[in-house]
Amino acid sequence: MVLILSSVTGCNQSNTNQRTSKQPPPAQEAASTPLPQSEKTKVVTTFLPIYLFTKAVAGDVADVEILVPPGMEVHEYQATPNNVKAIATANVLVKNGLGLEEFLTDTIKNAQNPKLSEIDASKGIKPLNEISPVEKTVKEAKDREHTQGNPHVWLDPVLAKQEVINIRDGLIAADPRNKASYEANAAAYIQQLDNLNSEFQQNLQKTPNCTFVTFHDAFPYLAQRYNLKQVAVVEIPEDQLSPADVQNAVNVVKKYKVKALFSEPGIDNKLLTSLSQDLKLTLRPLDSLETGDTDPQYYFKAMKSNLQTLETACK
Ligand SMILES: [Zn+2]
Repeated sequence: MVLILSSVTGCNQSNTNQRTSKQPPPAQEAASTPLPQSEKTKVVTTFLPIYLFTKAVAGDVADVEILVPPGMEVHEYQATPNNVKAIATANVLVKNGLGLEEFLTDTIKNAQNPKLSEIDASKGIKPLNEISPVEKTVKEAKDREHTQGNPHVWLDPVLAKQEVINIRDGLIAADPRNKASYEANAAAYIQQLDNLNSEFQQNLQKTPNCTFVTFHDAFPYLAQRYNLKQVAVVEIPEDQLSPADVQNAVNVVKKYKVKALFSEPGIDNKLLTSLSQDLKLTLRPLDSLETGDTDPQYYFKAMKSNLQTLETACK
C-alpha cells in the first residue's frame, strides 16, 4: 500500500500540471481515515439523559458524543472550547430544550456550522411550570425558576418516550440512509419505556397521593404522571440554612403531612442531614439522571431504583 502511494506521489510530482485534477484524495488522509468511519453521521448531545436516548436510537450507525460530561452540573454549565469544536464538526446536535441548555446559544454561534441540524427532544411536550402547591423555602429559589417551564421531562417515562420519538425522527431526517436501524433501535427502547411505565403505574397505585419534599425541582412530571405530590422544593443555600429556612421547611412538612424527603444520590450534605433530623423524615436519594453511567440501559437501572425508593418512602 505504502509503496503504491509513494509511486503515485512520485508520478504526480513529475507531471504536476497535467495530473492534478485527476488525482484521488491525498494519500495521507485516505490511509488515516478508513471510509466507513468517515461516513458515519456525527451527533453531539448536550447532557446525560439526551445522550442515553440518542445513543439508544443511534446504536452503532452514528457517532454520538456528549458535551456536558457526567459529573458536571448541567444547570450551571459553561461551554468549553472543545464543545465549540465538537459542534463545528457535527452533523446533528440533540438537546433537551425547555431552556435547560442556555450555554448552547453562544456555543452554536461560535461553532459557525451551517450544515448542523438541531433536534429539540422536548418538541411538542407541554411544559409544567409548577406543580401545585409548591412552596419554596428560600428567597434565592426565585432566581433559579425556569423561564420556559420545568425542563425535567425525561424523568417521566411517557415523556421520555416522546423524546426518543423526536430524536428518532430527527436522526432519520438528517441521515435517511440509516432509517431502518434508527427505527428498530428506537422501537426496542420504547418497548422498555412502556414496560417501565407499567411498572411505575402498578407499584405506585398502592400509595396514592404520596407527598414529598425535594431539594431539586426535578420531579413534577413524574409526580403528575403517577399521582404523587411534590409539595415543596427546598433550595439549599451553599453555606448554611437560616433558622427561618428550617422553620419554613418544618411548616411545609406539617401542613402537607409529607411522607418523604428526597435528595440526590452521591450528595453528602450536612445541611440536608440535619434538616431531615429536624423534620423527622428519612432522607432518601432520588436520581434526576443528570449524571451517571453512559450506557443507555442506565436510564432503566436508575429509574427502577427511583421506583423502589418511592415505594419505600411512600408506604
Ligand atoms: Zn435538574
